[in-house]
Amino acid sequence: MNSINNVAYPIVDHCNLNCRGCCRFCNPSQEKHFADPKIFEKDLRRFKELVEHIEMFRIFGGEPLLHPELSKFIYIARDIYPKSEIDIVTNGLLLDKMSDELINDIKSCCVHLEISVYEPTKKKLPKIMDILEKNKLGHTLNFVDKFWKRMDMSGSSDYVRIWKECQWKKCNGLRDGKFMMCPLPVVIKEFNRLFDTDFNFDDELIDIYDPKLTFEDIRDFISRPHKYCSYCTDPEFLEWSAFTGEIKAEDYAVIDACGKRFDK
Ligand code: SF4
Ligand code: SF4
Repeated sequence: MNSINNVAYPIVDHCNLNCRGCCRFCNPSQEKHFADPKIFEKDLRRFKELVEHIEMFRIFGGEPLLHPELSKFIYIARDIYPKSEIDIVTNGLLLDKMSDELINDIKSCCVHLEISVYEPTKKKLPKIMDILEKNKLGHTLNFVDKFWKRMDMSGSSDYVRIWKECQWKKCNGLRDGKFMMCPLPVVIKEFNRLFDTDFNFDDELIDIYDPKLTFEDIRDFISRPHKYCSYCTDPEFLEWSAFTGEIKAEDYAVIDACGKRFDK
């Protein structure tokens, strides 16, 4: 059986938290966007023709619990990939607002909750844990107090080395008929909107509806660096904080468009 390790499908672009340096460029001025379950199903059925098994399929955001039809995505994913681990990746802030119906759907489909615990989540943690334990919901808590930024706006990094050391290269993504190594080629559009830049990596996405596409093509695609990796550099750590006031390119980027470090 052909198989890959990870696929994440974002079902909501925006978020109810505004972490400075968010790797998906979520921000307070972002437009709301909800994925269509019919397109999700079509994409996943086509992807299954190419990749029979995914070890871990992650329902992603922004914040996926903002989607009013989250249950539909869960059932579709479980139907198409019955043996995969299916995770919802969440900041946890809405876990105490889940309906009984949604809780039952999560349990029925054996979905695991991958909870990133930020400062605002910590404050609600006792209540969240109560709900998780009372309902016996499978979960992992990932405590986050540090973030890192890693964009090189000049696109001149040593991209082969950067790619080799990158953890996100395993965060393969699927969305609207396109498969990608990591979210950058898709989420860069929000960076363009914020800072009036024109980065475009569309030609480095895989069209899953290409009739000539094979599993081997996908395997090869995730085994090598891509042009857009030259827009990442060595990560620079920052303490977690939420946006207050103006959003600047240096909240996300280490190196500016002229190749200079922002702090120099
Ligand atoms: S919770 Fe996650 S998706 Fe939301 S702003 Fe923070 S890092 Fe981004
Ligand atoms: S663009 Fe390349 S180096 Fe940057 S996060 Fe994605 S896979 Fe990693």
